[in-house]
Amino acid sequence: MRTFRVAMLCLALISSACAPSSRFDAARAFAHVSAQMNLGARPTGSAAHRAAGDYILAQLRAANAQTETDEFVFRGVPIRNLVGKIAKGRGAVILLGAHYDTRARADQDKSNPNAPVPGANDGASGVAVLLELARALDAAKLRNEVWFVFFDAEDNGALDSCALLPPPCDATPWPWSVGAEHFAAHLRVTPAAVVIVDMIGDAEQNIYFEQNSDAELQRQLWAIAARLGYDKQFIAEPKWSMEDDHTPFLRRGIRAVDLIDFDYPYWHTTQDTLDKISGASLERVGRVVQAWLEGD
Ligand SMILES: [Zn+2]
Repeated sequence: MRTFRVAMLCLALISSACAPSSRFDAARAFAHVSAQMNLGARPTGSAAHRAAGDYILAQLRAANAQTETDEFVFRGVPIRNLVGKIAKGRGAVILLGAHYDTRARADQDKSNPNAPVPGANDGASGVAVLLELARALDAAKLRNEVWFVFFDAEDNGALDSCALLPPPCDATPWPWSVGAEHFAAHLRVTPAAVVIVDMIGDAEQNIYFEQNSDAELQRQLWAIAARLGYDKQFIAEPKWSMEDDHTPFLRRGIRAVDLIDFDYPYWHTTQDTLDKISGASLERVGRVVQAWLEGD
């Protein structure tokens, strides 16, 4: 009878709470990229973007995360950051972030610069890593409260509102990381660390030190990557210097790292498509972050 009741409870929860701890899984992560791509391009304010946000919230709830949204309007466009919290009260907050919007115009694309970016790597890959982490993390091993934050409106930098709204629209260029800036400005709890994952799904994976990131956090993450045998993909040398969703947190004195593979020839083109993505690449990033959080 007791067994029966526990089984019923597990069915009702549909959750990782009943499952044994599990490792980050490449196929599950890849399926999250695929699901987002099936919606089409997902620029801020579009119906496909709204649907992507709803998909993310549903996945977070299925992983037993406590969900919240952070909503506001920027230059006439509705913005929605999405949050899932696990292990509440466990310790200092660790914020894991990824942007879920895709760039409204493929302005690096020589043949089709006004088309939207499909965003397989630039958008969907980071989201996929966070969603699979939400499922795979073993709450019993965590020493920190963990927030999964899906930032909106990261990728409209230097575009104008006419890329997002019908005319008449404002021709003033947009900044980058509008969602992350709003979230960082309204924090009531200061995270002990912020880890952003962006453009990490490329099959040809090369993740260098991003030069604005916190050096000690980088050292910890790259040391775990080396121990897991990923030293060919996590290259412990500085290369790019990025403005990304870590920037608003760094500006406020919060330790933050941007895990980003900027050696991606399809960046901001119409060729940023599912065929460029490898589940193994998503899994490497996921397992590094999982080991870092679980203390393995
Ligand atoms: Zn981008």
